[in-house]
Amino acid sequence: MSKNASNPTWSPKEAEDYYGFRRWGADHFTVDAGGALCVHPLGDQRSIRLLDIVKEAEQMGVRPPFTIRVQDLLRQRVIRLNEAFRAAIRDENYEGRYRGVFPTKVNQLREVVEEILDAGEKYDFGLEAGSKPELLIALALLENKKALLVCNGYKDDDYIRLALMGRRLGKQTVIVIEQLSELDATIRLAKEMGVEPHIGLRVKLTTTGEGKWAESTGEDAKFGLTASEIMVAVKKIKRARMTEALRLVHFHIGSQVPNISTIKKAVIEATRFYCELVRLGFPMGILDVGGGLGIDYDGSRSNYESSMNYSMEVYARDVVSNIKTVCEQTGVAVPDITSESGRALVAPHSMLIFEVVDRIVRDTGEPVPLTGKRNPTLRELEDILQNADRYEPLERFHDAKQKKEEAHSLFNLGYLRLEERAEVDRLFWQICRDIQARLPAGGDIPDELGDLDKLLAEQYVCNFSVFQSLLDHWALDQLFPIAPIHRLNEKPSVPATLVDITCDSDGKISAFIDFEDIKTTLDLHPLQPGKPYYLGAFLVGAYQDIMGDLHNLFGRVGEVHVFLEDDEEDGFYIEETINGSSTDRILGMIQYNADDLCRMLKKQIDRATKNDEVRPREGVAMLEMYEKLMTAKTYLDFRKKPGKARRKKGA
Ligand SMILES: *Cc1c(COP(=O)(O)O)cnc(C)c1O
Repeated sequence: MSKNASNPTWSPKEAEDYYGFRRWGADHFTVDAGGALCVHPLGDQRSIRLLDIVKEAEQMGVRPPFTIRVQDLLRQRVIRLNEAFRAAIRDENYEGRYRGVFPTKVNQLREVVEEILDAGEKYDFGLEAGSKPELLIALALLENKKALLVCNGYKDDDYIRLALMGRRLGKQTVIVIEQLSELDATIRLAKEMGVEPHIGLRVKLTTTGEGKWAESTGEDAKFGLTASEIMVAVKKIKRARMTEALRLVHFHIGSQVPNISTIKKAVIEATRFYCELVRLGFPMGILDVGGGLGIDYDGSRSNYESSMNYSMEVYARDVVSNIKTVCEQTGVAVPDITSESGRALVAPHSMLIFEVVDRIVRDTGEPVPLTGKRNPTLRELEDILQNADRYEPLERFHDAKQKKEEAHSLFNLGYLRLEERAEVDRLFWQICRDIQARLPAGGDIPDELGDLDKLLAEQYVCNFSVFQSLLDHWALDQLFPIAPIHRLNEKPSVPATLVDITCDSDGKISAFIDFEDIKTTLDLHPLQPGKPYYLGAFLVGAYQDIMGDLHNLFGRVGEVHVFLEDDEEDGFYIEETINGSSTDRILGMIQYNADDLCRMLKKQIDRATKNDEVRPREGVAMLEMYEKLMTAKTYLDFRKKPGKARRKKGA
């Protein structure tokens, strides 16, 4: 197959439609006339070609796989969320404020948290912590005393002490009680330290989330207080004469809530709890609606689990108006509103760039010259290939499959030679392709034949690890948009699935976003020898960065932080690069000391040299290579290393 010239051209619009850039990407992604994918950090005209970022990063020594963080896009999300609530509050004549917090667990990377705080400064945007390490981060980074610092998660005495320390420093730290025992400890420690705490109660709602990320609710919920536990808490707080401390009601029904009506129901129920606590004599003041604001991963705007049937603006309006309605009915002053929107803030700013390094083909398509008598099974397969008209497509597929299986048993029993088996396989795949080519477009296709796409797809081998960089795809079948970042002016002609470089058959991607559906293959471009082919996985800024796993000891990928350049149209600059994990660092995490390993290997090389099994010069080179790879990156590296061999010869 000749490649370059034969690839028909494609318009930017066709590329945008096929990969869904305009759907899931909102105003942030377009394709230019040269077939390059462009990111528009602010959703306006200004854009950056992703390929330019990749080229510049490579010149700076950072190779794919790496994460590109578009910092202006992150800032824009923070502003959009805050402005959405401001607009809703204005439109509803709501008498409280919005005081959101970023839940750090969604992406704790320093540059991410700092950028959010900086962009959110003028909105008094705060932080949420769910553990001691996260609280340590939040206490140091959050200096704005008008911003909230919400403390969630299981708490021991040290966690509570740390939060109370925040109060001593004049911060708006709120300890959210998830278990009654935490309330006892908070009261005790607050008295010990002489601090007036701010306390919140996490309520267990009957409204349940839905989708993959729904929190367990009701009886088996991990967090939150039931109505009767809240009554016990009320008594404890009053008995401790700390009525002034109770400020906040919190709930969290799970992440990525696809359906706005679920959010409405939860908000109404939580507001009822809020109003009742006001009635019982507490000052209150804040209603925290938790996370759950979604991301439209497939761009379908539906209540499908990868999507959401509402926008950020609709979310804000529904939260504000439902709280207002319930408060008005109950005759209670409206609270300030906080949300802990994590995914919605950080998912879009980050994309994973990786390279396709190889492909796995089903058969080479090369006929094998056979001598001697043809095996009858082989002859029957030839017959099936040549006489398409004699069969219904499904029958033809079944017959071919049966013959192939028969041939494989014959091979196992020693009745079929290797050449014949190769020919059997080639004929089988040829028949499959022929059946697929004859299927009516858009017609009713039996499932088995529908699966031919997947069966016939090529596998593109990609230099990254699903377990490190797209963990939720493996763990939860979450779909992320995936697309080439260049050559988008060529029609992609190869239906493919992706496999990563881990030795795990689960390290693959064979489900891709489609409009309100899932497709099993993604059309990609034929690989061009010697030329890199870059793919991007998008909307990966939430959770994926931090939950990565060291399967096969592939470490954290590098990072490139990009800003728009103000003085220059379409300009950008790379503010910072972070190197991916080096091998010695990863080995250190599992108790291997790199120096020890080098010493152990050196001993073996010395012994081999002494025994004349290895020449001294060769031994030195072996150790040199071992030591060098110890500090190199963990991913594949196919680039030619210039000058190395020549220098050796000269030495
Ligand atoms: C994880 C979590 C969040 C973040 O949820 P998103 O859906 O990512 O916005 C917020 N609050 C709590 C308590 C959480 O556990």
